Amino acid sequence: MILVSACLLGHSVRYDGGSNAHELLLQYNECERFVAVCPECLAMMPVPRPPMELAHVSGKKVLAGKGQAFDAEGRETTEYLLMGAEKLLKIAQDYAAAVAILKEGSPSCGVRRIHDGSFTGKKVRGQGVATALLLKHGLRVYCERDMTAELLEKLVMEDMDTHRF
Ligand code: SF4
Repeated sequence: MILVSACLLGHSVRYDGGSNAHELLLQYNECERFVAVCPECLAMMPVPRPPMELAHVSGKKVLAGKGQAFDAEGRETTEYLLMGAEKLLKIAQDYAAAVAILKEGSPSCGVRRIHDGSFTGKKVRGQGVATALLLKHGLRVYCERDMTAELLEKLVMEDMDTHRF
């Protein structure tokens, strides 16, 4: 199975209670190869919740214990992002998933870009904490911007060949 950020599949789990429904992913969701996941919900965070950002570090550093995350109200949320990442990895392992498609820009799911920690909307190169953990364990992680019908066709076919269900 392929892990997909739940907000990309239209689930209203974003920090502000909204979603990031992605038309092409919704179309391919009908192939029944996707598992909708939200690391921040797995960490028992509420919806809505204050926005969070990594404090001028990438998810890889947070995983290594060398960085922190805070919400817009100044509360440290590092442990929640770590918990969500660990729970997401467990799901990936339970499903023997090799691929994840995650939402760009998020402190948990960001693949190539994340907010810079200033809460000003500025983004920098880097990964979210959950993405960094999946990559560390050998998953291939794409973001919604990578998605084309050709790539999705290939990923779905590959997954069907690998898994019986
Ligand atoms: S943690 Fe990931 S799945 Fe959950 S709302 Fe944020 S971007 Fe979407």
